[in-house]
Amino acid sequence: MKDSCNRKQGTPSPCAACKLLRRRCTQDCVFAPYFPADEPHKFANVHRVFGASNINKMLQELPEHQRGDAVSSMVYEANARVRDPVYGCVGAISSLQQQIDLLQTQLALAQAEVVHLRVRQNASRSSSNNRSGFRQASPSNSGSPSSHIMAPSHGKAIFDVDMDSLW
Ligand SMILES: [Zn+2]
Repeated sequence: MKDSCNRKQGTPSPCAACKLLRRRCTQDCVFAPYFPADEPHKFANVHRVFGASNINKMLQELPEHQRGDAVSSMVYEANARVRDPVYGCVGAISSLQQQIDLLQTQLALAQAEVVHLRVRQNASRSSSNNRSGFRQASPSNSGSPSSHIMAPSHGKAIFDVDMDSLW
């Protein structure tokens, strides 16, 4: 009781940043809210990539409500840089960009396939309603009569989509 009462209030364990930098963690420590003592690796990577004084400067320049986001961003960038020293988070961005390009190509092909099947379907309808119909205009390259318009066999090979369900 005597000892604990004599201890000054407000001297908690230093934050992860101050601990790593071996300095006193004051009450207004700019790092303390974002780098708690129980996550030491979080500051270690950021310090390695950006440097403590740069982090300090960036946080000081920001209004307090934006500092948490800035720290998350720096932690993300630093971790990416440690994982991939050459490209950092640009590596992740360009790999996602490649996925987008690939998916956009697939989407364009699927949309072209839909248009193609619709045209064939319309052509077969009008040619069965009207014998002098549009068989010439049909883009069908199978050369077969319009008896199996909906056969999705070649669509299935490229897209894992049931073309019938689009109608
Ligand atoms: Zn501190």
